[in-house]
Amino acid sequence: MREEWTKARRIVVKIGSALVTDAETGAIKRDWLASLVADIAALAKAGREVILVSSGAIALGRHVLGLGRRPLRLEENQAAAAVGQIGLAHAYEELFRGHGLTAAQILLTLGDTEERRRYLNARGTMATLLGIGAVPVVNENDTVATSEIRYGDNDRLAARVAGMMSADCLVLLSDVDGLYTAPPEADPKARRIDEVREIGPEIEAMAGSTSTGFGQGGMITKVEAARIALAAGTHMVIASGKIASPLSALERGAPCTWFIARADPVAARKRWIAGALEPRGAFIIDHGAARALAAGKSLLPAGITAVEGEFDRGDAVRIRDEEGRELGRGLTAYARADAERIIGHQSHEIARILGFEGRAEMIHRDDMALKRGP
Ligand code: GLU
Repeated sequence: MREEWTKARRIVVKIGSALVTDAETGAIKRDWLASLVADIAALAKAGREVILVSSGAIALGRHVLGLGRRPLRLEENQAAAAVGQIGLAHAYEELFRGHGLTAAQILLTLGDTEERRRYLNARGTMATLLGIGAVPVVNENDTVATSEIRYGDNDRLAARVAGMMSADCLVLLSDVDGLYTAPPEADPKARRIDEVREIGPEIEAMAGSTSTGFGQGGMITKVEAARIALAAGTHMVIASGKIASPLSALERGAPCTWFIARADPVAARKRWIAGALEPRGAFIIDHGAARALAAGKSLLPAGITAVEGEFDRGDAVRIRDEEGRELGRGLTAYARADAERIIGHQSHEIARILGFEGRAEMIHRDDMALKRGP
């Protein structure tokens, strides 16, 4: 098995609606889901962290509400999602509990992954859940997401979650076992691609416009997901979910298409912080703090002597020493007004000063890109 899989410590698994619910009856495919959960439990026992992105709320909800197979209006989709999501949550709670694991439901909208302040919240919660050993089960919050603020497909949502969580690997389980040179059902000469390292026009052309017509994602959204994942330093694999125990099958070498990222997630994230964001302000830090950062530590309020600029929580800021040299950049855990009040203070004093329990660090080391690295 490839090392992109064996070495992956944090894994996001996305399953499509067609896998979760039966095309004829619309009911949950309980046996298949049980086999997937058993696979995830085995990974968790081996010390890997798994986040499951599950579609199927709308497909299941339309079945429960008796809406048939006709196209639904937006409001009907949202109503169906509200009903179906409860059913999904119930199934996951039960199945994970059977393996001694706790499932945790996370419903996200586009803004939660795009807006830095909300992004930090979602990431913090999911990291906490993983730290406690729970399994986050993610879906789009379809009930409140209207068309303009909606992903609409869980392929891209899963890729954003993988990037947000600096996952090592994203698995898209689908009704096809990979990316083909042409639609396999139409072209007998169609060949599955084993590995993609660069997503160029050729790969986009292969993705064509094949869609299962049941969930939302076709091959195009999967290739878009790959683009998001690779930019975040996350490897991605498309594999078949039409078989039982699909992750065990993948581990045994089942056919699939790998999309290989060049940088690792931490390096990709630091590059993003260092280059892609416009800094809104600066923290001036003392020599002790500068030494701590150089040794790989986080920036604590105690080491900061002055604050410049107007910034919100989650914004990028420069970190400068007292001689005015820029040491690096990072995402601040506090907005300007709060930051000003806690600089120079010990972290245990934050709650008393601000009246709420915030983060101990002004900039966590994972949210920091130093010019000369620690
Ligand atoms: N979020 C949708 C649902 O749970 C599915 C989107 C998709 O099929 O990718 O029903």
